[in-house]
Amino acid sequence: MTSRYFPARAVVDLGAIRSNVTELARRAAPSADRQAQVLAVVKADGYGHGLVPAARAAVAGGATWLGAAQAQEALDLRAAGVTTRLLTWLAAPGAPYAELLRADVDVSVADVWALDAVVAAARETGRTARVHVKVDTGLGRNGVMPDELGDVLARAVQAQSEGVLEVVGIWSHLALADEPEHPSVLAQAEAFDDAVRLAERAGAHLEVRHLANSAATLTAPRLHYDLVRPGLAVYGLSPVPDLGGPGDYGLVPAMTLEARLATVKRVPAGHGVSYGHRYTTTEDTVLGVVPVGYADGVPRHASGGPGTTGGPVRVGSGATARTLGVAGRVCMDQVVVDLGPAATEAAGDTVVLFGSGADGGPTAQDWADAAGTISYEITTRLGARVPRVYV
Ligand code: PLP
Repeated sequence: MTSRYFPARAVVDLGAIRSNVTELARRAAPSADRQAQVLAVVKADGYGHGLVPAARAAVAGGATWLGAAQAQEALDLRAAGVTTRLLTWLAAPGAPYAELLRADVDVSVADVWALDAVVAAARETGRTARVHVKVDTGLGRNGVMPDELGDVLARAVQAQSEGVLEVVGIWSHLALADEPEHPSVLAQAEAFDDAVRLAERAGAHLEVRHLANSAATLTAPRLHYDLVRPGLAVYGLSPVPDLGGPGDYGLVPAMTLEARLATVKRVPAGHGVSYGHRYTTTEDTVLGVVPVGYADGVPRHASGGPGTTGGPVRVGSGATARTLGVAGRVCMDQVVVDLGPAATEAAGDTVVLFGSGADGGPTAQDWADAAGTISYEITTRLGARVPRVYV
């Protein structure tokens, strides 16, 4: 749908993405003997920020690789003219490997069927596939189990000797990176080291070993290996909110979701507000209606309840701005705030649902907390009809 007249917008600060990646690159390569590269993860439409603009900003900030979960995302980047080294990893049978190889995309192999399909695509296209073998070191999701890794590597190295592919990477993903001291992190790192040794012994020409997501990039330098794969931190959000906020890690949240008050009206005491009347005014007061709702990504789980308000909304700007919680249920297209009996706001006044937090205003993390979820879900669920505006 076209969003020309939509009454809210997500302002994406590309300078913030650039500076976040520069900060991540600085952490990944702090000295001459520790020089990991940065692969910026831009899956899920750049975590809601926009696939291509986010990718370009990340590259401008120092990312030398990009990562996409889906083949389509990788192909869209290439179609937009993005030429940076690019890895895609989430394939199902039928995945367009031939097209990916023609587009010069590195591919992950996490299953024997995928290896066979990549080999077939390489033969069909005459391209040498660059393969990253994914190992399940303990996440319990995709990846080759360590006891099957030897067989998969033997097959891959056989294809390598025929010039059909190169095993350029061994990689894995952490289950509890947000708890860096958890024993499972150490156990996964040890299993990863074993997998790397196995691959090297099998004859893989490894270019990159990679394990670290945002949390490990920020908190566990020993897990950086040759390449770190941050996603959330690229967009300036903290993957470890219990340990520190964005500012503690030199990051700036890149997205601001803003709207304008659509309606400001006085109602009497005892007036039920929004579906289910979970909120009722306790005095003669002024309600403000904000024209964004759960169809736009405002989580309904962050609705206000009886006697409590929900997710935070910054109303107004400058010295008179104030932060209020949503009153009653978040609707599909709207939320309501109780502006209080002495409200001076008017229709058209600016409302910020979340932003950088620099002015004390709400952040995506605040909405995540109010909804009982993670900030990843707040930005990736931003609705398609909300226009992204790049600054
Ligand atoms: N690597 C893989 C395989 C992922 O699936 C993801 C995202 O979930 C990331 C890296 C980036 O993770 P984060 O956003 O926590 O940095």
